Amino acid sequence: MSSGGSPHLSTYALDMLELGKLPAGEEQRARAHLAQCPGCTRRLNEAHVSAELFMKGVQKRTLEQLRQRMRQ
Ligand SMILES: [Zn+2]
Repeated sequence: MSSGGSPHLSTYALDMLELGKLPAGEEQRARAHLAQCPGCTRRLNEAHVSAELFMKGVQKRTLEQLRQRMRQ
């Protein structure tokens, strides 16, 4: 069951698209696919949200460490 011809975008492709690092032709193809695929659009949005949550989590941890250091 290995088709290798999945029309869907890989997580890597979604990341590169988000970063604006896809070659022009690939980006055009990816955007054309996103326009007609709610599944990949949702994955793109989820990747975006999780990146934001990750940043918030890291910031929170960093702040807590800074506070602990100031108390010592
Ligand atoms: Zn898709």
